Amino acid sequence: MKVIFGVRSDIGRARQRNEDSYLIRDRLFAVADGMGGHRGGDVASALALEVLGGTPAADQGSSGPLVEDIKRANQQVLERSEADSNLRGMGTTLTAVITDGAKAHVAHVGDSRAYLLRPGQGLQQLTEDHTLVQHMVNEGRLSPAEAEHHPQRSILTRALGVEADIPVDELTLDVHPGDRLLLCTDGLTSMVDRNRITEILESEKDPQEACERLIEAANEAGGDDNITVILLDFVAEEGEPAPSEAASQSGGATTASADAALQGRDVERGESVTRVFTLPNVPEPRAPKKKRWRRLWLWTVGIVALLVALSIGTRIYLDHQWYVGDSNGRVAIYNGIPSKVLWLRLSHVQEATDLSASQAEQLQVWSGLENGYTANSFADAQGIVDRIRADLAQQSGAPG
Ligand code: MG
Repeated sequence: MKVIFGVRSDIGRARQRNEDSYLIRDRLFAVADGMGGHRGGDVASALALEVLGGTPAADQGSSGPLVEDIKRANQQVLERSEADSNLRGMGTTLTAVITDGAKAHVAHVGDSRAYLLRPGQGLQQLTEDHTLVQHMVNEGRLSPAEAEHHPQRSILTRALGVEADIPVDELTLDVHPGDRLLLCTDGLTSMVDRNRITEILESEKDPQEACERLIEAANEAGGDDNITVILLDFVAEEGEPAPSEAASQSGGATTASADAALQGRDVERGESVTRVFTLPNVPEPRAPKKKRWRRLWLWTVGIVALLVALSIGTRIYLDHQWYVGDSNGRVAIYNGIPSKVLWLRLSHVQEATDLSASQAEQLQVWSGLENGYTANSFADAQGIVDRIRADLAQQSGAPG
């Protein structure tokens, strides 16, 4: 199965700027509708898709990786909005699909939409709007028809860039040859009703032409908002069953030949694409410069504070340590401990005496004077000195 697509984004007839963005990269397709702040809308939608497109499309298997990428995009938009006062309050919707063999994984936040048009089954909306009016419809306080034209229909209850952790809706569907998948921003759905969208999609076979006609319809209805549409056509390749055969198979299964044809085959682009939003490889996101400096500054302050606290603590400790030792051949009272750290002594002489250290060391009881005798206090140290003095006096008084 191959995918042919059309895409078109239009400013509409009422807006000064186009704040919608779209992304087409390998098997990944996404639309985003930005809002808020001075120039914030375009930045939010483009940044979200840059982050999304920055990850190479791995073998998906599920919608999980896509959801993770959208959460990462959310973080980036939020960080950017917090770092730049001009962008504060910006946000964006994001509706993305990644094709994965005979499956398509859809992930979604906001009020852009994904629809599936399956031959004979009409147009099916795959996503649910994260809007206040949809919430009221779900609670039975508003009918779907009332919601369509409600003045507050664009108030979002969920968007990227608003809070750190957002739930992302996800679904995986089996796709058949002949299926059409439409991604669009609310600039289409708020201007063109579902029946008209179905009519255009059913009557225009070329996906790019279909996109042009959808935009035209939105503009003819007033073009109140920016309009972005991506249309994916799933097409049988040679050797694959034709759409009618595929449709006759039971529930979404694909044949072995179709699976084989999918191996190593990604997306073939539509020939008539007018504008493709391709992106260079985006490097791993780094904290904004301002934030990095702030982090570095915080670390420095933290380390300096720790060192100061340590040295104060050591000073207080040493001030309360005493010992009696040898100072240039004399018995002396030291404040501190009889050690060195590198070249730094951790003590100083508090009081020198006239007693000879070498004579004292000759007495067995004071032979360890060179290493110092620790005392509990200065008075205690004075007591040790008194005992040495007494012992020395006794020694010199003793008969030779
Ligand atoms: Mg919009």
